[in-house]
Amino acid sequence: MTKLSNTVDSEAQHICIFGEPYTGKSTLAMTPATFGKLLLWFSFDRGHTVLRKLAPHQQELVDLVRIPDTKDNPVGIQTALKVISGAAITICEDHAAVDCAVCKRVDSSLWTSVNLNALSLNTVVVFDHITQIADSAMQYAIERSIRNHEKDATGVVLDMKEKDYFKPGHGQYMMQGFLMTKFLTNVQQSNNHIICIAHVAEVEQEDGKKKLVPLIGSVPYSRNSPKYFDHLVCCEVTNKEHRFASDTTYSASIVSGSRRDISIEHKGKPTLEPFFSGSIPKISNTGVVEAKKVLTSLVTPAIVSPVASVNDATKKRSELLARLNKTTPTTTTSATSANTQPTQGPNTP
Ligand SMILES: [Zn+2]
Repeated sequence: MTKLSNTVDSEAQHICIFGEPYTGKSTLAMTPATFGKLLLWFSFDRGHTVLRKLAPHQQELVDLVRIPDTKDNPVGIQTALKVISGAAITICEDHAAVDCAVCKRVDSSLWTSVNLNALSLNTVVVFDHITQIADSAMQYAIERSIRNHEKDATGVVLDMKEKDYFKPGHGQYMMQGFLMTKFLTNVQQSNNHIICIAHVAEVEQEDGKKKLVPLIGSVPYSRNSPKYFDHLVCCEVTNKEHRFASDTTYSASIVSGSRRDISIEHKGKPTLEPFFSGSIPKISNTGVVEAKKVLTSLVTPAIVSPVASVNDATKKRSELLARLNKTTPTTTTSATSANTQPTQGPNTP
């Protein structure tokens, strides 16, 4: 048997940043680029536009993979599962589909190679946002049920043209939960630094008290969502001020906390740096900072770590580009990890 004292914990940090819209979630998630980390940002909606607020040399540290997930093209869950599996995959730029059969037939197709297993802890992987991935999982479940001629919650059998009217029931929520558990357990076990951005849900605890947790799929499923992360950071705006909390004692009605007891709510300027440096910030009374000041401070060069000079940025950029090549199908390696992928995706060409 191995003694605890002889084991070393993984340095990889898994963070969930959650809150209502416009509470600064994405702005906080991009702060690793301000202390010299590379960001590999998977954008499932248009939330990545906030990255333009980074200084130009910080933007050089960001690689963006757009996965425009919609009801008509719910490719998000399938691509997300393959990405988080860690295997080397290629994603087509037109449909954001892994190993896309349609694009393979077109010589001019553009592809992005992703291989999480090859990334060092110098890169932080961001999923923006997992609430959208869960919506994609539900759409996958609905289309699967329609193909199998299953009834919806009102007892009606619909065809694919009527999919927008399908009312999900127990079977579809089960499938959504199954897919999201697959994704989240991979996050939990990942050797990469990972940030998941999520919307917020109010759930009733066993003691009857209501609490805010990350919204992942259904509200009952969301109750257990915190357990997959090392740190939960809640973003909210109160009294016209942005607040970022990772302390278990921050609020009785919000589930926030950190396995390393790292508290960022007392930082003068909001940053995720303590999670990655392992340092626990000294608690001061600066507390909350005015919303405007907070959001401006994030993009001013004054807070840029000295390591993030332009030269270093270029160096780090080359390192990431070496792993994230845009290639043509002729140089494409085949995607693997079929075990983490739904085999009959709704949009499998
Ligand atoms: Zn394609």
